[in-house]
Amino acid sequence: MADYEKKINRMLDRWAFKKKKVKRRQTTQDEIKNRQQSSVEYNGNGTFITEAEKKTPVSKRCEVLVVGGGPAGLSAAISSARAGAQTLIVERYGCFGGVITTVGMETLAWYRYEGTVDSEGVGVEMERLAEKMGGTIKWPYNDSQCLDADYFKIVADQLIKDNKVTPLLHTLVVEVIKDGPFVRGVIVENKSGRQAILADRVVDCTGDADVAYLSGAKFRQTAKKEMMGVTTVFSCSGIDKEKFIRYTKENPRTYEDWGESWNQQTSLKEKKLNSPYLQEEFARARKEGLIPQSATNICGSWSALSDAGEATNLNLIHLSPFDATDVDDLTRAEMEGRRQTLYALKALQHFVPGFEKAKLRNFGMTLGVRDTRKIIGQYDLKEADVMGQYRCHDSVGIFPEFIDGYSILILPTTGRYFQVPYGCLIPKGNVENLVVAGRCVAGDRVSHAAMRNMMACTVTGQGAGVAAAVSIKQNKSFRDIDIAGLHEELRKQKVRID
Ligand SMILES: Cc1cc2nc3c(=O)[nH]c(=O)nc-3n(C[C@H](O)[C@H](O)[C@H](O)COP(=O)(O)OP(=O)(O)OC[C@H]3O[C@@H](n4cnc5c(N)ncnc54)[C@H](O)[C@@H]3O)c2cc1C
Repeated sequence: MADYEKKINRMLDRWAFKKKKVKRRQTTQDEIKNRQQSSVEYNGNGTFITEAEKKTPVSKRCEVLVVGGGPAGLSAAISSARAGAQTLIVERYGCFGGVITTVGMETLAWYRYEGTVDSEGVGVEMERLAEKMGGTIKWPYNDSQCLDADYFKIVADQLIKDNKVTPLLHTLVVEVIKDGPFVRGVIVENKSGRQAILADRVVDCTGDADVAYLSGAKFRQTAKKEMMGVTTVFSCSGIDKEKFIRYTKENPRTYEDWGESWNQQTSLKEKKLNSPYLQEEFARARKEGLIPQSATNICGSWSALSDAGEATNLNLIHLSPFDATDVDDLTRAEMEGRRQTLYALKALQHFVPGFEKAKLRNFGMTLGVRDTRKIIGQYDLKEADVMGQYRCHDSVGIFPEFIDGYSILILPTTGRYFQVPYGCLIPKGNVENLVVAGRCVAGDRVSHAAMRNMMACTVTGQGAGVAAAVSIKQNKSFRDIDIAGLHEELRKQKVRID
């Protein structure tokens, strides 16, 4: 039969509603939806199980894949898209924002006292957009804004949408796809099953350096007993705001008071600055037997107070030693943090004027983690760099001399700042197509106390996102990109690099 006859017959069949069953190839989406139930048979010896080989559908492809949607990941995805790369961001929870939205840490810029020379770029832009959208409350002791944790979920959605980044929530990265030293994508798991995502470049913004770790990149982790503590952040409603503010004015605290509970190195000026700190109230509660004597870890900061009578972002429960890359530790810390919150609440109700009728409003969605893996980088940032106004040829931005952690608190009231080198984003050794950003960038303990801060994470995020787009444009590896090209795009995006 000639081709034209076949065509006519098909047409006549269609008109006569005689549809032929066409056997179409299953699409990836069908394969994902109709995935088989478990194929893992018990064949173990009690030590491990061997899983059968399986075909994993490729569900998405992109130029730049950003893993993790915290301050670093959001910045990386927005900046990569702005630099012209087709960008996908994958996040394990149901919202973007990382520690801001999932833990409830709203204090993005509390360090910004008079005299601070601050970073410029997408981090400050996020803060301004949140303020413009009505999602902030002034921080008590300077002009910076606290981000409303829930509101920031909407701000982040807006940023993702406006910058044409493809979002994928509820998706955990569990494996890395490698071809020799080249990272070609990741394996994810979510409600739709196990899928592969292929990408030309990957930016690891998981906080824990999960992708770098799975890729075999070298990393360091502080010994568990010396790690920064984890925290259960909570919020209260039913606060008499005026009464509480009056109490804090009559009983002012400075950063020197932090030293009561831990040894704190400062640059002295911090001792005069007001701090939203509560400690002696919990000591009284212990002394009077209201809460256990052992609860010496309960103390810390309050921050935003709303006109609706809420005190959010109560950062009072410090737990250690816990290793947040160990799920048993995570489980114990989550439960212990909730238990201890009841002690904190009791002490607040009895000894803090304005909190008499306080009610537990909510916990953060998850435990707050400060300190896990950090990659070994092409350049490892050092204590002397962050405390010594480091200057470098490959800066991706500046960050003020703000150090908070490992018993050091230095606030950037002097105008001093350091440059953040691109080298601390690049894993050293045999892993290509991958950079990291956020709290897992390369550096020692004291540099971590600077680089873990959210605004610093937005600096490395933006640097990584732009570098990913530029490396595709220049057709060069992350290691070999032309720094002048990187700087050109960063400047275009209004980043201050020197
Ligand atoms: C209790 C507490 C108080 C803090 N206080 C302050 C403060 O006052 N000011 C300040 O500047 N900084 C503060 N920090 C530090 C700061 O919040 C963090 O260091 C910062 O948020 C790190 O940003 P990030 O983007 O690197 O990681 P995160 O904010 O942790 O974001 C990482 C994201 O990646 C996702 N993710 C992780 N693994 C995977 C995976 N395998 N697959 C998919 N997604 C994944 C996570 O769900 C998360 O959303 C505090 C931290 C804590 C815990």
